[in-house]
Amino acid sequence: MKIQWLGHSAFHVSTDYTNILIDPFIRDNPSCPLDPGEVKADIICVTHGHNDHFGDTVEIARENNALIVCNHEHSVYLSQLGLETMGMNMGGTIEAAGIKITMVNAIHSSDMDFIDGIGPGGSSCGYILELENKRKIYHSGDTGIFGDMKTVIRDIYQPEIALMPIGDRYTMGIMEASIAASWIEPEVIIPMHYNTFPPIEQDPYQFKEIVEKNTETKVTVLKPGETYQE
Ligand code: ZN
Repeated sequence: MKIQWLGHSAFHVSTDYTNILIDPFIRDNPSCPLDPGEVKADIICVTHGHNDHFGDTVEIARENNALIVCNHEHSVYLSQLGLETMGMNMGGTIEAAGIKITMVNAIHSSDMDFIDGIGPGGSSCGYILELENKRKIYHSGDTGIFGDMKTVIRDIYQPEIALMPIGDRYTMGIMEASIAASWIEPEVIIPMHYNTFPPIEQDPYQFKEIVEKNTETKVTVLKPGETYQE
């Protein structure tokens, strides 16, 4: 399994069988080294409707005939464009191309700001992906810290790998994310949603130092385009 960070909150997760894209903010993402045409996807998971997450979902879905997994409100909108979607809501699990996908809570907003004007876009979410080999990846989406990271994310889903924001201002900062790390207790955290733009500049090595001093979790700091593999 490979997890490639495409900068910001965009990740390409690939197994022997399936390509999963999460929050494919590619073309307008100043830290993404790829063009939308270079990204392969069988499934695209969208955490919410802000353009720095929804990004190039429509173009990549069309190009790859990919299934879009998203909240119900986005699903209604995207299916009107003729795209294949699986809408869902908090706490639900679906299975697609051998991957189990659970939608979990996130504390954030979700207006669709990629359409003309701004439209309501349901709730913001995170995802737990259970791969064919049973490893679980938690992509938290944009979120502040919340207590259910302990009682739901850890106690129920027990993800081994967590992709979590540290950029502050719009999401958790380093202090909150390091507390979240101690609650969730994954084996590995890959920090995201930092250094894309000046308002979310952070030092990921400071986050790594705090987490690795206080927990058993390893923090893997990637450069955009780099891959974590196991
Ligand atoms: Zn957002």
